Amino acid sequence: TSPIRIGIVGYGNLGRGVEAAIAKNPDLQVVGIYTRRDPAQLQPLHAGTPVHRMDALAQHQDRVDVLILCGGSKDDLPVQSPQLAAQFSLVDSFDTHARIPEHFAAVDAAAQGGQTTALISAGWDPGMFSLNRLMGEALLPDGVTYTFWGKGLSQGHSDAIRRVPGVAGGVQYTIPVDEAVEQVRSGTRPDLTTRQKHRRECHVVLAEGADADAVRRSIVEMPHYFDQYDTTVHFISAEELARDHTAMPHGGFVIRSGSTSDGVSQVVEYRLQLDSNPEFTASVLVAYARAVHRMRVARQYGCKTVFDVAPGLLSPRSAQELRADLL
Ligand code: NDP
Repeated sequence: TSPIRIGIVGYGNLGRGVEAAIAKNPDLQVVGIYTRRDPAQLQPLHAGTPVHRMDALAQHQDRVDVLILCGGSKDDLPVQSPQLAAQFSLVDSFDTHARIPEHFAAVDAAAQGGQTTALISAGWDPGMFSLNRLMGEALLPDGVTYTFWGKGLSQGHSDAIRRVPGVAGGVQYTIPVDEAVEQVRSGTRPDLTTRQKHRRECHVVLAEGADADAVRRSIVEMPHYFDQYDTTVHFISAEELARDHTAMPHGGFVIRSGSTSDGVSQVVEYRLQLDSNPEFTASVLVAYARAVHRMRVARQYGCKTVFDVAPGLLSPRSAQELRADLL
């Protein structure tokens, strides 16, 4: 059988991750990258990958089976996913949790109209963590679910510290509090406040002449972003920032702590420890693109989430092989 033909829409961290992930999945093939920038300015990982302007897509319906959308959740995906779902089956990584219902509705209308299959909010959170939260609740109805994130670089919080006057550069790491994780693992089902679950660590380069104490105060007191956490601020040089803080590690745990009868405790844990957040997210998107293609062929049209996809559809192997080897 011929490979599933994938188009990559948007070429940032996630877009590059998708190109890398597809190289490890022989049943999939990148047929093109689509960008809003000048295609001549982009350097794909594989020199042979064609780069097109975004508006070429309208003519490429016959070349592409599934689009993987790699734009940002804030401004790109709310526009691009509904627009493209009218013509293409697709996968996106929309991660603004509070807006998922409205995003679903917009994409579903487009996909129903165009008879396409469009899966939103794949990745790890939302995505793999969501699946594990669902499993925890369904299997252990008497229980509590805990999600911890980190240690990892948070893009939103890093952007927030860079906007503080006197800051020339910086990054923010979210770190689970060890004692809280251990308490949860012990099965005692603690009530944990925001401050007890995570702490925040900032590495900041001061602008010339800036007052370190004033900068530290503006960061740790920043409403919503930092005021509910214990935050430490380390001042570093621009060289240290460039040398030690360009990787994008992340990870975390989903833990369900439940009870099946009096005094019988059951604790289930799913853990991610990622050197590269975008490369792992991209690997998830690629597996879901395979599933989306199969669902489109089976005429299962409309908007879907990870909750709607049978696990076997994610695998390149046949159902028969999976039963023999993995069951
Ligand atoms: P980037 O900022 O790297 O890329 C976003 C878009 O910006 C690209 O698609 C690209 O579009 C454009 N772009 C990229 N680089 C440049 C540049 N140098 N100059 C101008 N434009 C550029 O974001 P990420 O790839 O890191 O992340 C994308 C989204 O993925 C995030 O917004 C996040 O919501 C989501 N995500 C979801 C996760 C999950 O678990 N569900 C986990 C991690 C991320 P174009 O080529 O068209 O210009």
